[in-house]
Amino acid sequence: MNDLQVGERPSYDVAIIGAGPIGIELAVCLQQAGVRYIHFDAHQLGYTMSWWPRNTNFFSTTERLAIAGVPIQNNHQQRITGEDYLAYLRSVVEQFDLMINTYEPVTTLIRTADGFELETAPLAGPRHYRAARVVLAIGDMEWPNRLDIPGEDLPHVSHYFRDPHEYFRRRLLIVGGKNSAAESALRCWRAGAEVTISYRRPQLDSERIKHWLLPDLQAQIEAGVIGFLPATTLLEITPTHALLAPVGGGAPFAHPTDFVLLNTGFHGDQSLLRMAGVELRGENRVPVFDPATMETNVPSLYLAGTVAAGVQQRYTLFIENCHEHAGKITQAITGRWPARLGSVASRNYELAFEQIQAN
Ligand SMILES: Cc1cc2nc3c(=O)[nH]c(=O)nc-3n(C[C@H](O)[C@H](O)[C@H](O)COP(=O)(O)OP(=O)(O)OC[C@H]3O[C@@H](n4cnc5c(N)ncnc54)[C@H](O)[C@@H]3O)c2cc1C
Repeated sequence: MNDLQVGERPSYDVAIIGAGPIGIELAVCLQQAGVRYIHFDAHQLGYTMSWWPRNTNFFSTTERLAIAGVPIQNNHQQRITGEDYLAYLRSVVEQFDLMINTYEPVTTLIRTADGFELETAPLAGPRHYRAARVVLAIGDMEWPNRLDIPGEDLPHVSHYFRDPHEYFRRRLLIVGGKNSAAESALRCWRAGAEVTISYRRPQLDSERIKHWLLPDLQAQIEAGVIGFLPATTLLEITPTHALLAPVGGGAPFAHPTDFVLLNTGFHGDQSLLRMAGVELRGENRVPVFDPATMETNVPSLYLAGTVAAGVQQRYTLFIENCHEHAGKITQAITGRWPARLGSVASRNYELAFEQIQAN
């Protein structure tokens, strides 16, 4: 952590907010370019991956997840889990000896005449900083999409699927019909839970479910070993039941269950964008920025990573197509494309290499 005396308001060239993979990749680029930056995360680094279900594999292959030119090696040459990736991110941070102020959420971001003022909220109390430029690398999954129904905060209800073991030989109602619902249903059923899915549409979302999961799930539903309640909405959760209503009318009915898993998706926290004056457009509240530099309509405020996609209904930005954000921002700030970006085997590295040659 960076040292700070009480009452001091230190000043930096750049403040990076968010230490997910893209924030970390940008930190390597800025460090290597000799830029004086400070880096914050509200939680531990890689927080988004830390709440993924245990042993969940990326669909992205390793070379597309690698950051800052550091390859991901493993003993099976296949897709890695969230836990594997967290270990990799920790090694990248150790390799470059990056300083990250973890557990220090940025709560206020104000544009001033010559840069930005930031207020953070670590447990010890508020701190204040100044930075000439700010990069928001805060992702797009900070909060679960709540249903705002009675019973949503009961202890047997969760928006986070962590471990199928919790549901062994218990009744589990899963709400949702996209990929996470499908993955949770199959894993929990295979782990010995009695699973039922409630989805508001008449059919599962075949476009949003991994192609190898869909036939598997459909086969279990047809065999009657996983229950499916299509075209139903959840009205209320009690300690023993879920109250469901048929979409389009009909009498609500009580479905007995021990646990409820709300696989209703996640969204980013756009409060810092709003506070700083970033314009958000359309249904997906997409921030306005220049795709050549990633600079927003607020001068010297940049976006790196999936935050640039707004509230993604359909995912368009992933780790693999965000590496170039770190390159564009580094180039905008230092005038040079970074030497280390993406992985040796990825398209991004080839792009970076072409740009280095062109410089
Ligand atoms: C189950 C699951 C599987 C997935 N599989 C893939 C996959 O295969 N490939 C892929 O590319 N993506 C996948 N994703 C999405 C992936 O998690 C994101 O693409 C990735 O995390 C985005 O990286 P990022 O650096 O932009 O943001 P994030 O990793 O979300 O990092 C943002 C960071 O900002 C911090 N932060 C937020 N607000 C503040 C604040 N106010 N102050 C300080 N810090 C703050 C957060 O704590 C967090 O650490 C998956 C997601 C899930 C849930």
